[in-house]
Amino acid sequence: MNTKFTKKLWFKIAIIIGSMVVILLFPDRLKTANSNSLAQIPPFGNPPPNLLKPPKPQILPSPPATPSPKPPQQPLVFAPPTQFRSQIVYKASISDSKVIALTFDDGPTSETLKILEVLQKHNAIATFFCLGANLRENPEIAKQVVKAGNAIGNHTWHHYYHNVSEKTASDEIDNTGVHIYRSTGAKSLLFRPPGGRLKNGFADYAQKKNYVVVMWSIDPKDFLQPPAAAIARSVVSRATSGAIVLLHDGGGDRQQTVEAVSAIIPKLKQQGYRFVTVPQLLQMQAAQKQQTADQKPK
Ligand SMILES: [Zn+2]
Repeated sequence: MNTKFTKKLWFKIAIIIGSMVVILLFPDRLKTANSNSLAQIPPFGNPPPNLLKPPKPQILPSPPATPSPKPPQQPLVFAPPTQFRSQIVYKASISDSKVIALTFDDGPTSETLKILEVLQKHNAIATFFCLGANLRENPEIAKQVVKAGNAIGNHTWHHYYHNVSEKTASDEIDNTGVHIYRSTGAKSLLFRPPGGRLKNGFADYAQKKNYVVVMWSIDPKDFLQPPAAAIARSVVSRATSGAIVLLHDGGGDRQQTVEAVSAIIPKLKQQGYRFVTVPQLLQMQAAQKQQTADQKPK
C-alpha cells in the first residue's frame, strides 16, 4: 500500500476518533458553541458523574459599580376611604363581621411600650393618637408603634382644651403631622381632638385639611384610673361590631389600662371579635356598603 495514502488514512481516522472523544467528553462546550446541533445528538445512557455537573458559569469582567436605581419608597399613609375625609365618625357600621378598634390617646410614652407588649402577645393591633410634644420626646416609641402594624393619628401638639385661632390650630396639627412623619415615616389623616371637643377650632381646621375626625363609641373612663376589672367590664359589656374604644397610653401611670387591655382582648376574641385599626374599620364599612350596593337589583 502507498505509504502516503496510508498516512492520510490514519490521519483521517485519528481526526474522526478525536472528534468523537471531544463530543463524548465535552458535550456542554459544544452546546455553548451551537446548541441547535447538539439537540440532535441522542442523550447518553449513563454519563459519568462529572458530566452531570452543570457547566461552570463564565466569569465576565464585572461592570462598573453603578448602583441600580431603587424605586422611590412610598410613604406609609394612614387614611380613611375618601367618603370619610372631613367627616366626624363615632363608630363604623359593620354587620357582616365582628371587628372592633381600640384607640390609645396622649402617647407616645413609656406606658405605650407596655400596651404594645400586650397587643403583640395577643396578636392584636390598635390606633394611637399621639401628641406632638411626646413624639418629639419619644420618636423611637412611635416608630415601634407603626412597625408593629398599628395605625397612628394626630392629637395636636399641646392638648389644649380652650378655643384656638386657625393659626394655632394649624401650628398644633401641622407640626404634630411633621413629627409623626419624622419619627415613623408615615403620614396620617386621622385626627382626634383633645377631650373630644369639636367646637374649639381644632376639629374645624382638621376637617378643612381632609382629616377624618375620629371620636369613639365606648369610653370606659380609664383616665380616672378605675380598677382594671372595671375598665375591662365596661368595654366588654358594651362591645359591638364597628365600635371604637377610647383608652389612654399617656397622661400618667396607665397600669390599670394595661391590665384591662390584657383582659379585654382575650375575652372579646372568645366572642369572635377581631381587632383592627381605625382606617381598616372604615375600609370595611366602605367595602360592605359597596357590596350591598352591588347586590341590589337594578
Ligand atoms: Zn387626649
